[in-house]
Amino acid sequence: MEKPKLTIDEMAAFCKRKGFVYPSAEIYGGIAGFYDFGHLGIELKNNIKQEWWKTFVQRRDDIVGIDGSIVTHPMVWKASGHIDGFTDILVDCKKCGMRYRADTLIEDKLKIAADGMQIQEISKRIKESRIRCQKCGSELGEPKRFNLMFTTNVGPVQSSSSAAFLRPETAQLIFANFRLVQENARLKLPFGIAQTGKAFRNEISPRDFLFRMREFEQMEMEYFVHPEKYDECNFIDDVIEYELNVLSAEMQKKSQNMQKMAIKECLSRKIIKTKWHAYWLALMHKWFVDLGADSSHFRVRQHVKDELSHYALDTWDLEYEFPFGWKELQGLSNRTDFDLKQHIQHSKTDLSIFDEETKKKIIPHVICEPSQGVERAFLVFMFDAYHYDKSRDNVVLKLHPKLCPVKFGVFPLVSNKADIVKKARDIYDELKQEWACIFDLGGSIGRRYARADEAGVYACVTIDHESLEDEMATVRSRDTTEQVRVKISEVKDILKKFMEGEKLSKLGKSVE
Ligand SMILES: [Zn+2]
Repeated sequence: MEKPKLTIDEMAAFCKRKGFVYPSAEIYGGIAGFYDFGHLGIELKNNIKQEWWKTFVQRRDDIVGIDGSIVTHPMVWKASGHIDGFTDILVDCKKCGMRYRADTLIEDKLKIAADGMQIQEISKRIKESRIRCQKCGSELGEPKRFNLMFTTNVGPVQSSSSAAFLRPETAQLIFANFRLVQENARLKLPFGIAQTGKAFRNEISPRDFLFRMREFEQMEMEYFVHPEKYDECNFIDDVIEYELNVLSAEMQKKSQNMQKMAIKECLSRKIIKTKWHAYWLALMHKWFVDLGADSSHFRVRQHVKDELSHYALDTWDLEYEFPFGWKELQGLSNRTDFDLKQHIQHSKTDLSIFDEETKKKIIPHVICEPSQGVERAFLVFMFDAYHYDKSRDNVVLKLHPKLCPVKFGVFPLVSNKADIVKKARDIYDELKQEWACIFDLGGSIGRRYARADEAGVYACVTIDHESLEDEMATVRSRDTTEQVRVKISEVKDILKKFMEGEKLSKLGKSVE
């Protein structure tokens, strides 16, 4: 078994070939930064979102969800600072008009980190290093700010008062609805409000397949605490021994490598400042690992001073080692009471809550805002699942059973015997009531197994001539190719147990 490192383009090609992801409306040439999900991609994406929701909303007492609108009141974005400050710096070519995102252009050309670089600095670097248009080689103009929000018009008349924005993040709707949700769900601090859904950013240069898109989905949560109880995290013991790769701001300053550490150590050495922040970092990391991602491909990295947003007290990114380097998967920011205060000021609405203990009105603080792009999670699971199996001579997509787009395949060994086909069809009809399954008649059984392996189908059930006599079926594992015979009447139970982690050899009679 070997695992060659795929490039992002090779992953994009694989996703297209197998029906996971297509360039949007490719028959018209596609549209940069937009992708369509195919028959397998939609299942994987839904499973990712569902697992996130189950873990962080349904299975917890302290977090509830909402679903806000995509076209949002412009004042929301005024209050949040997006209208004035949600910008990237662009430069355009004086001759051909080609536009570049200035920081990525500098990163590509000069191989230095340019995220958060100021406009004067960018201008200086471009001139000094004589960076020119990558398309036509001409001189570049002065860098300028560009707002990344998509605008639209609401109602039949287009005017400045009808302008509205497609939300660039889901988080702000949580703040706008804060008071209603807190009251109606009777939430007591500490608590969280979560939301998943589409967000839109008019990226100057979308790139790296699903990594930087113009339309994408987020899974976000705002976790609120009492402003004077920053360190009272009741759950910290759940993760205190949990280990992850850590790269603090200090370590980056000293050019040190990341270091594997337990949460306990991060807190005792004051590397992560608050228990809540440490708790959410560990939990978000663990969510990936529990769903089959390889923990050695992850690290948590603290923002250095230049990267910190003006409102953030401390920010850590959960990062993943993509083929194009360590990149942000999730930003976990301590946003204090910045957002609620902004909305209180702009809406002139009281968003404070009454603290029973001190009998005072307080404005809760967002101790942590885990914000995860669905498509980035999609890439992580695909990269970590992708294996090329030399002996089988096909790709095996070893997705966690909870994420498999198709859980099981049911195959009649031959397609020209009606009673075999019917028996297989009956099993398929039963299984598909519970799980996404496929029924495949096409080609040799080896070919069908290979197709299933590449789609990440967790196990296959085959009905053969003998099945008609002994009422048994063959179950084959995707990951090991191990095969066992099981009673047809027990197939559903056995597959359930297999998916939950029991060994196939314990569930049936081994086939030599
Ligand atoms: Zn040019």
